[in-house]
Amino acid sequence: MKEEIKNLIELQTIDLEVYKINEEMRDGLSSLDLRRKSIEDDKKIISDYQEQLESGAKRRRELEVMISDEEERIKDRQSKIMNIQTNREYQSILKEIEDTKLANKQREDELLLLIEQLEAMENKIEEIKNKCAAEEEKIKKDSTAVEHKAAKLEKKKKDIVKAREAQAAKVNKKYLKRYETLKERRSGLAVAGVAAGVCLGCNMNIPPQMFNELLREDEILSCPTCNRMMYHQPEESTEE
Ligand SMILES: [Zn+2]
Repeated sequence: MKEEIKNLIELQTIDLEVYKINEEMRDGLSSLDLRRKSIEDDKKIISDYQEQLESGAKRRRELEVMISDEEERIKDRQSKIMNIQTNREYQSILKEIEDTKLANKQREDELLLLIEQLEAMENKIEEIKNKCAAEEEKIKKDSTAVEHKAAKLEKKKKDIVKAREAQAAKVNKKYLKRYETLKERRSGLAVAGVAAGVCLGCNMNIPPQMFNELLREDEILSCPTCNRMMYHQPEESTEE
């Protein structure tokens, strides 16, 4: 039984290493993906701004045309007012001039505000574009590094998988099946030591009777709480 447990622990050590390598590979790639996604988001913001910029520019042209047309009208009325005969007509044209001036003043205010907004938007677009370009350049470099690392990890994994096959062949089929099932369900940790009556897989006490059985090492027992295959871990080997 001691040999069986030893073989299982050895197998688990190898599998945990494979697990770690897989995770490392995934982390590297997913962080790149996240950064690429963030650039995509920024580009969407840029295209939104550009749409706003276009409609803003259209409004700007409209206002400029309107303002200059109305200025013409004011000039026209001002020259007309010289030749007015009746007071009523004079008052009417005067009012028209004042109203037109007021309306134009409002348009000019709108135009000024709009120009400011368009400028701010252009700056913002420029800023985001620069940020994206710098980040894209960085990602290019980093992804080469990640690919390089992934290739290294892949090679390391291949070697480990070979060792894993050899080790799995040493394990009794009956235990291997149990091990594989538990490995899936317990994120890689299928075999757990028991120290001072506590399962180190789930940190729960096991019944004293079971602990005694465990010490006899007649068969491989399962933790009543987490179901992991247990082995006795002498206390001097734990940090206490
Ligand atoms: Zn347990």
